[in-house]
Amino acid sequence: MTVSPIERRARSFTASGTAPADEPNPTLFVKEHTVVTVYVDNYRCHATVGRLTGRWSHLTADTSDELHTFAARLGLRRAWFQARCRYSTCPAPDGVCVHYHYDVIDSMRTRAIRTGAHPIDIRDLGALITARRTAQRPTPAAT
Ligand SMILES: [Zn+2]
Repeated sequence: MTVSPIERRARSFTASGTAPADEPNPTLFVKEHTVVTVYVDNYRCHATVGRLTGRWSHLTADTSDELHTFAARLGLRRAWFQARCRYSTCPAPDGVCVHYHYDVIDSMRTRAIRTGAHPIDIRDLGALITARRTAQRPTPAAT
């Protein structure tokens, strides 16, 4: 298997998601001094969605607003936003649950990474969702 420059670059990222010192930092600045943290996982599930057959991964961000801004830059349609998962018991305040994402095929995944999305492992996506769920939970009242 050949390793593309993008893949090689993705693999070179440190655990904290920062780029190696000899390369430009890929962090995307949407507005001055506003760091947007967008992630794309390596799910790469083979599927046909509409007319598109390919390997699909999840594009998500720290907030859904950040995700929409990034997705628009990539040319993704807002209608493709997956606000809800298939679990009916998953709480969705304002119609958006913790699993919110866009599905992207490999070519778009590569573009997302090139545009500044941090490549993450599918297991990291699980950790991200768990953290979102924890943040959503009301803090227990002090006794
Ligand atoms: Zn959900």
